[in-house]
Amino acid sequence: MIRFWRATFGAVRRALFPSRQQTDDGRLPYAENATFWRTIAASLPFAVTTSEFDRLQRLAEAFLHEKRFWGAHGFAITAEIAGTVAWGAALLAYRHGLALYRDFVGVILYPAPFRVRRQLHTEAGIESEWDDTLDGETWEQGPVLVTWQPDPTERWAVILHELAHRVDFACDGLWNRHWEAAWDTAHRAVRQGGTLPFDDYALTDPAEFVAVTAEAFFLTPTNLKYWDERLYLEWSRVTGLDPARNGSEPVVPTERSEAS
Ligand SMILES: [Zn+2]
Repeated sequence: MIRFWRATFGAVRRALFPSRQQTDDGRLPYAENATFWRTIAASLPFAVTTSEFDRLQRLAEAFLHEKRFWGAHGFAITAEIAGTVAWGAALLAYRHGLALYRDFVGVILYPAPFRVRRQLHTEAGIESEWDDTLDGETWEQGPVLVTWQPDPTERWAVILHELAHRVDFACDGLWNRHWEAAWDTAHRAVRQGGTLPFDDYALTDPAEFVAVTAEAFFLTPTNLKYWDERLYLEWSRVTGLDPARNGSEPVVPTERSEAS
């Protein structure tokens, strides 16, 4: 059962700030909005500049205004939940804007990993069927599905992963020779018993490599930059952000990529 939560801007504003005084034009005083967004931004391991924060806030509020949110299995969408998804969307769209997300109407949130039925079709009909348990999913058409994970880092990972797939779709594929080089290096490292600075689910296929390295770009940026600066710079070019700038997270030793 999916519960529909219409994120009109007025409804979001009332949900976010039920007791706040609104200004005459119906907008909240800037500083009070900013406090809400600052709390969400603080759950990420990197700081943004004041001007980056201002643009991210505008993008996140516009995302809430434009998109719909649904809670699956009776899951209640709170301001924090919608705001966190919107902030993730803003991070990935910092450079190119919300046009990246024009192909979907909203986000379905699950309280726990969800099961989907898979079918393998061949010319002879359905070859096999099985159940998959997923943290998130998205297609080129249709909404984004994500699980609201209890652990904040895993929660960000799922949100950023699924939205990165949308950015990849919207850009007609981000893949270029730098991604190809990093992909080859990652496969070689794993073959040789080495470790990667991100989940090796990335090696499933190039689309997953893009989505998983987006998680690393925002959640362990220093490690990603150390492993392959060229790949880090690709994500920096796509998003217009530089989360490793302050080098706030410790570098976990991994073999450096030899890709140039
Ligand atoms: Zn994926």
